Amino acid sequence: DPAMAIQGEEVLKRLNDHGHQAFFVGGCVRDEIMNRPVTDMDITTSAKPEEVMALFEGSIPTGLQHGTVTVRMNGYHFEVTTFRTESGYEDYRRPSEVQFVDQVEEDLKRRDFTMNAIARDYVGQLIDPFNGVTDIEQRIVRSVGLAEERFREDALRMLRGVRFASIFDFDIDSLTWDGILAERDKLPHIAMERVRTEMDKMLAGPYPARGVCLLMDSELLHYVKVPVELSGLDRTALSLLDKLPQATEFRLGLLLLLLGANSSDADQKLRAWTYSGKVKDRMTKLLELHEAVLNSISKIVKDVQVGQYRRHLQEEWKQSVLRYGVLASEDWHVIHTLLPQSFYDMTGEEYLLLKELVEHAAEWIEEMGIYSLKELELSGSDLLRVTGRKGGPWLGETMNWLLQQVVTGQLVNKHDILLEAAKKVTSDEK
Ligand code: ATP
Ligand code: MG
Repeated sequence: DPAMAIQGEEVLKRLNDHGHQAFFVGGCVRDEIMNRPVTDMDITTSAKPEEVMALFEGSIPTGLQHGTVTVRMNGYHFEVTTFRTESGYEDYRRPSEVQFVDQVEEDLKRRDFTMNAIARDYVGQLIDPFNGVTDIEQRIVRSVGLAEERFREDALRMLRGVRFASIFDFDIDSLTWDGILAERDKLPHIAMERVRTEMDKMLAGPYPARGVCLLMDSELLHYVKVPVELSGLDRTALSLLDKLPQATEFRLGLLLLLLGANSSDADQKLRAWTYSGKVKDRMTKLLELHEAVLNSISKIVKDVQVGQYRRHLQEEWKQSVLRYGVLASEDWHVIHTLLPQSFYDMTGEEYLLLKELVEHAAEWIEEMGIYSLKELELSGSDLLRVTGRKGGPWLGETMNWLLQQVVTGQLVNKHDILLEAAKKVTSDEK
């Protein structure tokens, strides 16, 4: 956003005019060099937080103990942090103590990777003591300083390194890689929420398969608080991750399917990984739906005459859509259009049915027209009133039967038609 950069340059200039050094730093400088879109710009300065506050009206002391002030400039916000070093790393996590320093180089030294340790002033001049530009050009993730030391200070950096290698499709420098292998046993000290955030960013990026391969090779996920076993994953199948729409949920869904996760284990594991209830439900429903589809297919092949396969398949699918929801069904469909036959442990006949389902799944969802009892043109209370019967299991059963008749095209969703049909089946039962 060039407009943001111009406002940020105004912030740098004002600090300079008052005798302070000031630079853009970190992710924004890296992304500018890589010609990637920049969404927020961090600033680092020799000015102390009080001095920054005094120079910019309406600034907010967002993290004074770390030296951070949020400055507003013509509608844009910038985090302005005083040059600092960190020390007193405890338990392999970020430090609680910081010391302010006078030199920008000192501040750059505390940063994780060379590509994140570049500062630039308002005319575009770079300060790059660790040759981050060269590493960006050569597509290398490299620790600032001694990798082992840096990972021992803060174990999260190992996952950040893998995440950057994944989203930029970079290599990891060999000493940095050795550092990961040497210090990976420090990962249990990192909160799962931070682990999950890195995983999500990786999965939402353009090359998630690369990231998962790096996680397999480094075995990093063996060491986190809630470990995940990736070693059985098929690397060819993994490459499909990159082909899915660029959203965490699709990629996570495929990953769970490739891992052979079952719905009840996944629920617990996702909770322990601090996934939100929303993501957890979506994934659990996807896995449940998948299990239901596989069951339907083997049941059809076993019990149904060949000429009736398709009708049964369609009905079973629509029932699963009702039970597990449209979202999970669409997720399932998007993922399964990609999977090769080798993914499935099925007979040839079963696989033909699966292919037929994948081919028609979207069309059949569309065809259903309604997806819940709420959308029926006849409510449970209508039915009670008209029949004069008392509530009981028959009511839910009848309503579900109506829904099923509508989504399979055997009844039209019109009040009178539904009522007649309901009266008929309930009186037949009596
Ligand atoms: P993105 O915002 O795209 O995830 P980023 O590089 O901006 O990437 P942030 O987490 O926003 O990452 O951090 C901003 C900068 O702070 C980084 O570029 C890096 O210089 C420094 N930094 C962040 N986390 C760490 C860490 N754990 N150890 C050392 N330096 C870090
Ligand atoms: Mg950032």
